[in-house]
This record gives sequence, C-alpha cells and structure tokens, in this order.
Amino acid sequence: MTPPQPPAPQPTPQPAAPLSPGPQPAAPLSAGPQPAAPLSAGPLLVLDAVSKRFTTGRTAHTAVDGVTLAVPRARVLGLVGESGSGKSTLARLALGLIAPDNGTVRFEGHDPHRLRGRAARPVRARLQFVPQNPGGSLNPALRAGSAVALALAALGVPRAARAERTAALFQRVALDPALARRYPRELSGGQLQRVAIARALATGPDLIVLDEPTSALDRTAQSRVLDLLAQLRQDDGVAYLLISHDLAAVRHLADQVSVLRHGQVVEQGPTDRLWQDPRHPYTRALLDATTTATTTARVPARVLRPSATAPPATAATAPPPTGPTAPGPTAHH
Ligand code: ADP
Ligand code: MG
Repeated sequence: MTPPQPPAPQPTPQPAAPLSPGPQPAAPLSAGPQPAAPLSAGPLLVLDAVSKRFTTGRTAHTAVDGVTLAVPRARVLGLVGESGSGKSTLARLALGLIAPDNGTVRFEGHDPHRLRGRAARPVRARLQFVPQNPGGSLNPALRAGSAVALALAALGVPRAARAERTAALFQRVALDPALARRYPRELSGGQLQRVAIARALATGPDLIVLDEPTSALDRTAQSRVLDLLAQLRQDDGVAYLLISHDLAAVRHLADQVSVLRHGQVVEQGPTDRLWQDPRHPYTRALLDATTTATTTARVPARVLRPSATAPPATAATAPPPTGPTAPGPTAHH
C-alpha cells in the first residue's frame, strides 16, 4: 500500500461551467484513505479538450476530437450524434474506463480513470453507468436482486439490510420486488433496464451516464423508462449524461444538448433553443431526420422536466469566468 495522501484539493467555486477548469493537480484517489466527498460548486463532470484515438492495424482513427463539455449538478446533458460519432467513446472517457490521449476529465474534481481501489469507492459510487444493453451488463448466472444486492455489498451495506434495500430499489424503478428472484433471461428488455437503473441508484449516484438507455427497447418500454428517468431525476436531483441518437428521448429529458459529429461538438445549447433554432446544418439535418421518423411516435410530455428557473450553465452558454478562478487558455482554442 502506498502511504496516505493529503486530501484532494477543493476545486475553487466557480460562477458557471468553465470551458477549461485550468490546470488541476491529479486527484490522488488511488492511494490511501480519502475524505468522502470533495464537493465542488462547479459542474459535476467536466471534459476539457478531450481527445481519444484508436489504432487498428496501421490506421489511426480519432474517435473523440477536442471535446469540451460540462454536466452541472442535478442537470441533464444530452449528447446526440449519429452512429460512429464518438458517443460511446465519450461515455467511456467520462466513466474513466479509458484515459484520454489529450485533455482532462474531472468528476467532482477527480480523474475518473484513477478512481481505483477501495479508497476510491465512495467517489466511484457517485458516478454510475447504465449501458445500452442491460442484458449484457447483468450476469446471467445471478438473480436480478443479487445484481442490486452486490452493489449494496460493495458499498458496505450489511447483509441483513440488503434484501430490504433491494426491494425498495425495485419499487423505486416500478418493478415488482418479486422479480428480484428472476434471472436476467426471465425478464423483458424494459424490466432488465429497470434492474440496471436500480443497480445504478443503489450507490446513491450524483451522476449517471446513460448510453442509449432506451434504444434496445420497444416503444412502450422506451416511454416508460424515459418517464422513470424523469421522475428519478426530479425526486433525487441526480444528474445524467444522456447519450442517445433518439432526439425525442433527449428532448424529453435534457436541459442542454451537445451535438457530436465525427468526434467533435458542432453545436451545444439549451434543449429548447436547439430545437427551435438549430444553428449548425448538421443539427438541422439530425432534427429533420427525427421529425420524419417519429411523427407517428408518442413524444412524451415534458411536464416532468423541471422548468429552467435558473438555466444551467454549460460550456456553450457560460458567461466568461472572471476573477482569480478564471481558467487559462487551452491549447485547442
Ligand atoms: P457511437 O457510440 O457514437 O456510435 P463510438 O464511440 O462507439 O461511436 O465510436 C466512434 C468511432 O471510434 C467509430 O469509428 C468506432 O469504430 C471507433 N472505435 C470505438 N471504439 C474503438 C476501439 N476500441 N477500437 C477501435 N476503434 C474504436
Ligand atoms: Mg455507441
């Protein structure tokens, strides 16, 4: 074991989502006991000029190319773009599953790629993932309830309390707790996705990264899962990075939207503005395609999305930072 390290530096409160949070020392989470939560007044998640290349054979491909975005606390950032635009790669970067080649990723001031080991668990628990294919993310040999109970066990919830907490989480996602005894193959796609959401909620997350959470579901299950996500968000104040090529889903939930094309953000702004006044031709094309494809689909009512009394700040709309916390220029500007 490496010796205990001093606490991670408290990020200075910032007036709004900064384009670049400035140089920050890497959070030393992998090394020794840490305070539970260096809460920051800035956004929960900040990606600053992040790039990721993949090399297959002799060809290098830039999947994510200088992306800057921020997810404020209790807000929903939608990330849209066609297949291959780099959305899942961004999700993996945000979750720390892969490291960027350039740029920085910070979740509550920590580099998520370095959130490893027991000491990092309290922070790790606050950053959760709901994948596209819930069947694939659940162990087929484990009952649905055990998948949730294991997440509770990892948090240190005593065995005696796990069954009750699991049942409560099933109820939270509108699943009959009796389904906890079923194996994944005995559940529908919509039910599986609810189990995945229950498992994500088990750790009390501040942010859930959802990568195409409804695209494997039929339309009825899609609506129900979207309504559930809206409800959870309203009740718990959990933030989402909602990745989808389904713009109706994003419109239903997101406060802000970033449009990704060929690994680059071509436009970002408040959801309503983007729909009413798309400025980039690519955004317009995406919206046109969706309008055509979903004219017969039920577009869910947006009543559950809290109205933007205090519009969330994102990189695109943030006023320029002032004072000593103003970030310095970054290489990509
Ligand atoms: P999206 O989720 O928007 O469909 P992805 O992030 O999955 O896009 O992929 C973006 C690009 O990066 C694609 O061209 C894809 O083929 C490539 N890519 C993604 N992951 C890898 C990998 N592990 N190795 C090589 N190429 C990858
Ligand atoms: Mg994808």
